Amino acid sequence: MDYQKILNEIALEVGALENSGEVADYIPELAKVNADKFGIHLTTMNKEYFASGDSEEKFSIQSISKVFSLAMAFSLLGEKLWRRVGVEPSGNPFNSIVQLEYENGIPRNPFVNAGALVVVDVLLSELKDPEADLFAFVQSLTGSNEISYNKLVAQSEKETGYLNAAFVNMMKAKGNIVNETDEILDFYYKQCSIEMTCRELAAAFLHFGENGMSYEHAGFSLTKSQVKRLNALMLSCGFYDESGQFAFKVGLAGKSGVGGGIAAVYPEEFAVAVWSPKLNKKGNSVRGFHSLELLTTKTESSIF
Ligand code: GLN
Repeated sequence: MDYQKILNEIALEVGALENSGEVADYIPELAKVNADKFGIHLTTMNKEYFASGDSEEKFSIQSISKVFSLAMAFSLLGEKLWRRVGVEPSGNPFNSIVQLEYENGIPRNPFVNAGALVVVDVLLSELKDPEADLFAFVQSLTGSNEISYNKLVAQSEKETGYLNAAFVNMMKAKGNIVNETDEILDFYYKQCSIEMTCRELAAAFLHFGENGMSYEHAGFSLTKSQVKRLNALMLSCGFYDESGQFAFKVGLAGKSGVGGGIAAVYPEEFAVAVWSPKLNKKGNSVRGFHSLELLTTKTESSIF
């Protein structure tokens, strides 16, 4: 497979179309990004690397980070985790609060914001130094010790995150949150503000495409079955109320973030990360989604 040729074609085809969508501006600091950035990086299981565009530039990974924190919480609690957060697609936007009340403070899945906030609560309860552990885990997956978060983005999220505070408070009122609201939000915003390049994200996600992460990453490990479940959740819930479309058109397990990134996995073949800041109405990168659709069409590499 000539992946380099295919990535070059994708960059050309996507670049020739109008750069539609909107940059996320509900987090003011994120709105400062250059909307014309585009990068893609693909790493195969045999550690061959292919890239195009701004694939070496750091960007805000936002909700892609939810996969990392979920992997840690799953490693710590095993099946007990699913008593506090579901595994069903929500059919609602990532920041919707409606289901949470009538489903008794149990979020539909770990990738909507409420679910990711429960995952943070687990990490705060289970770990002595959750922040150090999160960064150690991501650095170990990536094979780089240059992973950090953007303090301005974290602060900007904190200043505008009324809805996230509402999720935590609602869940605390319903008995599904142990730690204090502010502690949970501070950790969550640091996690969302992590900055990585497409290359780093693809390197990290490659482990989710491996035959189980039975070896340890900074003390965290998942069995083969747990990695499959993580991928199942990415496929069914990784793109919020556009997860069906992503499975339909792309056919990979993946996760998006409002920074415009998407990381995806073709188990036992490759991991790919793409970045383009403009988002569609569902909060997913327009060019990112389109690029991955082209990738799986050109390579005929859908998991189905
Ligand atoms: N930090 C963002 C938020 O909490 C993450 C949302 C996303 O990437 N979908 O709203």
